[in-house]
Amino acid sequence: MQNSNPKVAYFSMEFGLDPSFKIYAGGLGILAGDYLKAAKENNLPVVGVGIKWKQGYVEQHIDKDGRIVDSFYNNEYDFLQDTGVKIKVNIRGRDVCCKVWKVDCYGNSELYLLDTDLPENADRWITGQLYGWFEEERIAQEMILGIGGIRALRALNKNVDIFHFNEGHAIFAGFELIREKRERGYNPYDAWNESRKEIVFTTHTPVWEGNEFHSLNILEYMGAFNGLDKYLVKEIGGEPFNMTAAGLRLSKKSNAVSMLHGRTANEMWKSIDRRSEIISITNGVHLGTWGDKVLIDACRRGENLWNYHMDNKEKLIDFIEEEKGIKLDKNKLLIGFARRAAPYKRGDLIFTDEEKIAPLLSTGDVQIIISTKAHPLDFSGKEIIKHILSIEKKYPNSVVFLDNYNMNKALLLTRGVDVWLNNPRVTKEACGTSGMKAAINGVLNLSTLDGWWPEACWDEVTGWQIGGGFVSDDIKLQDKHDAESLYDVLFNKVLKTYYNDRKRWTDMMAAAINGMVDRYSADRMIKEYYEKLYK
Ligand SMILES: *Cc1c(COP(=O)(O)O)cnc(C)c1O
Repeated sequence: MQNSNPKVAYFSMEFGLDPSFKIYAGGLGILAGDYLKAAKENNLPVVGVGIKWKQGYVEQHIDKDGRIVDSFYNNEYDFLQDTGVKIKVNIRGRDVCCKVWKVDCYGNSELYLLDTDLPENADRWITGQLYGWFEEERIAQEMILGIGGIRALRALNKNVDIFHFNEGHAIFAGFELIREKRERGYNPYDAWNESRKEIVFTTHTPVWEGNEFHSLNILEYMGAFNGLDKYLVKEIGGEPFNMTAAGLRLSKKSNAVSMLHGRTANEMWKSIDRRSEIISITNGVHLGTWGDKVLIDACRRGENLWNYHMDNKEKLIDFIEEEKGIKLDKNKLLIGFARRAAPYKRGDLIFTDEEKIAPLLSTGDVQIIISTKAHPLDFSGKEIIKHILSIEKKYPNSVVFLDNYNMNKALLLTRGVDVWLNNPRVTKEACGTSGMKAAINGVLNLSTLDGWWPEACWDEVTGWQIGGGFVSDDIKLQDKHDAESLYDVLFNKVLKTYYNDRKRWTDMMAAAINGMVDRYSADRMIKEYYEKLYK
């Protein structure tokens, strides 16, 4: 045998492999893409299973009157190979045909994508838009990924030892594995137990509302039971059916995506009976994609990193000038904040007390670039965007809003700013990976002690912490506390170091890179998956 490692099929709703390949929305997809790349580079036997989204995720722009405009475009790709395989999934009583595409660009990662956009289908739109708008649409998409994914692997004659579900979207694959065993004569419980031996599950969502629930009625109507008895479905996911609980009960082992998230997840799911153990495997990022090789090599040679960093900062400033017609000052501190406009991430926390931050924005001693995107139906996220736009209007030379956050912008920002701001409400961010991208490029993190940061933060050495890990049930109190801490650390530590102690700053850049470049790589992550989850 050439490779004795277990063969893994990694199921994910999204894969962020390349900016132009629009089958991703955000962090979950970037993780999946980085995982596939690391698998290939480490010669590990992994295939990805996902969906060929016709339109992908929303493209979101701000028009000249300051309105948020959502658009969807049809995407065509010339690098997809037709495997010739077609499979069927019965949805709402009708067979839906799925074509299976293969992607083997990007370092030859094997990724199979299901596609319902075929003339013979009435429901061509199931694979139309990533994270569609309606519950039935979402369930149908998850049935294609899960049930269709297993059937595609079988039709392709792929040998698989471990089925890895990246988040609850894929759990209907477990129903298909059980159905197969039922067909071979297993009783329902043996079929479930046998299937558990080949399933592992990654949970990502410490925000209760972020976990997906469906009534058993709608699942039954959609055909998601997939031939399983109702009592069994109920035992697996409860009523209403909880997709995360189902993932925990369908798997032999689960993982949370940072140490802190491991504690939060175990607390959150402690009342779920017959669930798998939840261990912690902290996420990592793909170096070849996110790291600036020139700067990292310079760091390894022990060189001063300032000029290398300034090259990246200038590239970003030029990009902003092209996009927005605003020339930022490369000699002034530049803070970046870029992620989904989810309320718990608090994209506008730094503007909580405008009087405090205003003088620095007026002089330009603090410059901020914020980039984000809200799901079309996330109205509180859109309110945050509107607040940021109103601040941008007042301080146009030092506050820049970049719309339509995507991988390209993430690449420029996580190496071009000086400081990476991250201020989720503690325990709500499972991991966060943009801060890792920043750190390995010598961009210093200024972050609440959430997600991965408590593991990596050595205050005033590898970056800065804000908020001291404070958590409160009173959200207003927590926000006020964290905003005050943010101002305190920014004024008394970050600004002083930046403007008065360049040596200290570049030492911190080197400490961040040296401490994190291996520890928070996708290579380390996938090795841990093999050692702790797949065995
Ligand atoms: C890295 C990345 C994310 C994830 O960032 P978080 O810090 O985990 O929120 C989301 N979107 C894009 C485009 C990214 O590149």
